[in-house]
Amino acid sequence: PYDVLVVGGGPAGAAAAIYAARKGIRTAIVAERFGGQVMDTVGIENFISVPYTEGPKLAASLEQHVKQYGVEVITEQRAAAISRDGYVNVDLASGATLKSRAVILATGARWRDLNVPGELEYRTKGVAYCPHCDGPFFKGKRVAVIGGGNSGIEAAIDLAGIVEHVTVVEFADTLRADEVLQKKARSMSNIDIIMSARTTEVIGDGSKVVGMDYEDRTTGEIKHLAVAGIFVQIGLVPNTEFLKGSEVALTRFGEIEIDTKGATSLPGVYAAGDATTVPFKQIIISMGAGATAALGAFDYLIRNPAP
Ligand code: FAD
Repeated sequence: PYDVLVVGGGPAGAAAAIYAARKGIRTAIVAERFGGQVMDTVGIENFISVPYTEGPKLAASLEQHVKQYGVEVITEQRAAAISRDGYVNVDLASGATLKSRAVILATGARWRDLNVPGELEYRTKGVAYCPHCDGPFFKGKRVAVIGGGNSGIEAAIDLAGIVEHVTVVEFADTLRADEVLQKKARSMSNIDIIMSARTTEVIGDGSKVVGMDYEDRTTGEIKHLAVAGIFVQIGLVPNTEFLKGSEVALTRFGEIEIDTKGATSLPGVYAAGDATTVPFKQIIISMGAGATAALGAFDYLIRNPAP
């Protein structure tokens, strides 16, 4: 068995593995794809002390740093269940079971897609999911935000301070965002809100986004918006389906509940990053949380003898 098994190889998992391995304990990472969401990112300008980097480059450095400590890295394996019998057992979809004294869950999250033509093609070429990350790339331009929930309206308010104009496009005939956010958005002169609008297509010129089409659901008419950026804000889904029915408590949104040391409800199981209740989902925040979870897990190991 391992001392610490990290499930997930994104920024949170990599940081957790490095902090654990530096304690001289037997550490492994099991992940579907090393690098996580960072592999889908082009420009990164908010990884503090590194003014500019790109996702695949950061992911390669993460892997190199992890391997420097002799962490065993198992990729292309998906965790399917977790249980405890003294050791924590992680069952893989392949049928194998990995045993460890402590486990750190860092399986991240995924943005819910619109599933319309052009979205995939123009991802990172105008189709964006993270206003904190990509907002400044659209300085002085017109953008759309798809989704009128809290994250959509927060994104619109945030972007309105940077870009020329924001159009919020909401499918329903009402906004779900908190009243205080709606009021703030309506008070800003460069935000328009369109309701009962079904986004039908992302339109590009071959290299970048130039607009989008939507159906006016009251008339059935197709309308066009000329925008350089489209921020999709229709939900962030934690990759925690495999924990449903386990002893690891999740919120109703599927986020893993953690305390200030990263501990979950199952003894010996810690969690970090976008898969958890951490309020903001960013690379630097995930890395900090990974370090916290590893130190939390080490604290657990020195207090609980091996079974
Ligand atoms: P993830 O990066 O999601 O990694 C999860 C890991 O778990 C992966 O290795 C995955 O393969 C693995 N995994 C998932 N399920 C299982 C399973 N069942 N079994 C085994 N392995 C599993 N943040 C910034 O700070 N700056 C930016 O500029 C920025 N730009 C972004 C651009 C895009 C397009 C996206 C999508 C995100 C961006 N983010 C940015 C957010 C940032 O990428 C995330 O906050 C961060 O990657 C979260 O790290 P994580 O380790 O918690 O999860």
